[in-house]
Amino acid sequence: MFDYYLVYLLLGLLSFNAIQNVNGRFLEKQVVSQVEIDTKLQAFLKNYANDKDSQNFIKDVKAQLCDYRKHAHHDISQISNLKRKKYDFAKLIKNLRKDDDEEPFEDIGDINRGLENVLYDGDIILTKNQSKALNLIRRKKRQAVSLPSMLWPKLEPIPFYIDSSIDVNTSKLIKNAIDFWQNNTCLNFIENSSAPTRIKFYKGTGCSSFVGRITGEQSISLGSRCNYFGIISHEIAHSLGLFHYQSRPDRDEYIDILWNNVPSSWESNLQKEPQAITLGMPYEYGSIMHYAEKDSDLVQLLAKDPRYQRTMGNRDHPTFNDVLLINKLYSCEKGFGGPDCSQPAPPEFSAKNCGGILQANDEWQTLNGETGENSKDVKERQAACHWHISSPFGTRIYIKVTAIQGACSLGCFYGSTEIKLGNFTLTGIRLCCYSDLKQESEFITDRNLAVISVHSQLSITKFSLMYKIV
Ligand SMILES: [Zn+2]
Repeated sequence: MFDYYLVYLLLGLLSFNAIQNVNGRFLEKQVVSQVEIDTKLQAFLKNYANDKDSQNFIKDVKAQLCDYRKHAHHDISQISNLKRKKYDFAKLIKNLRKDDDEEPFEDIGDINRGLENVLYDGDIILTKNQSKALNLIRRKKRQAVSLPSMLWPKLEPIPFYIDSSIDVNTSKLIKNAIDFWQNNTCLNFIENSSAPTRIKFYKGTGCSSFVGRITGEQSISLGSRCNYFGIISHEIAHSLGLFHYQSRPDRDEYIDILWNNVPSSWESNLQKEPQAITLGMPYEYGSIMHYAEKDSDLVQLLAKDPRYQRTMGNRDHPTFNDVLLINKLYSCEKGFGGPDCSQPAPPEFSAKNCGGILQANDEWQTLNGETGENSKDVKERQAACHWHISSPFGTRIYIKVTAIQGACSLGCFYGSTEIKLGNFTLTGIRLCCYSDLKQESEFITDRNLAVISVHSQLSITKFSLMYKIV
């Protein structure tokens, strides 16, 4: 009896302490002193203070951001006057949540408090050019970066290294996050600390990253509270080119921002991102790139569909659509390329000067294609060339394969001629053996586009086909 009483007493004391800690934490957050902020900022800048260039870089970006925010603040103050009158959901949410026993979790915005002067949108480091461009295109409507030079070349592995400041456990999480993006997208990574352009993971102040690829070494800072798989995946996604979901140009259709609850130092971080493009992806509350409802104890983001209020701020792992967004950004749909995935993909691996766009008409036309090398060695990867045959809207294309040549193998392992007639995100019909052609050599597309690819990792794969409008 006595033992039970003691256990209850202990549990009671523990929970009392927990509440105290939670309250204490919020209280502490509300009164962060200027000294603390300055100390944090100094610590952050130290990471970039190795040489004069870095100091100038930070100075420039700071100045540009300051200029941008002056204007952004002006734009926002107009919005906030309207919103203030219309919405007062904050109290409602607070009231609804008053009996919740919420475990403290600091999202990226909380962790980075005090770094607002140098970070954009909460955790993004802009390059000089990006910060300049931000000022120039602030008013234009245009979630991913739209400048092709900011993307990594998808046919080469992305070099990265983990600095010695990172502990063993965080290092494992970084590798897990890299494996995740590598296994689910067409991008590859390689550990290499001396490549001219590379990503460095280090234990800095706060969690931050550049957006997209920049030249030279670009750092991803993972401070002491950033060591979660979800947060690391988020920062890597920035370095691959993604901005935040809540800054998409169409976000006002999905969320309301409770400007009353947004500190003025944070207001410009909730601007719509002028450089963001959405690539036709639906708005996802649970994207790994979406911020949570608050970054202090006041709710700032309100889902227009209230059922999704807690979905915002997912730091579990990137979603199916986060993966799809990266794949779209890098045109990873096999056979498609160009900035919007509408062009044939460029030749892959050792393939060169092949592929193209063809127009079908009422007459039979011939397409001959080949790739590979006249060698008995099996290559590590398949070379590939891609052609798009199109016809006027509303028509379909008749394709007659007249010849194929190359290694015949199980699952067309060594090479094939591939024909996509409809769903272009799926693998097409692959032909690599004589019997394949005997079985079926004439095809009709589902719509006015056919994608023809030739692959090889052993000797030369060739095909010949004829095409016309049906
Ligand atoms: Zn972020």
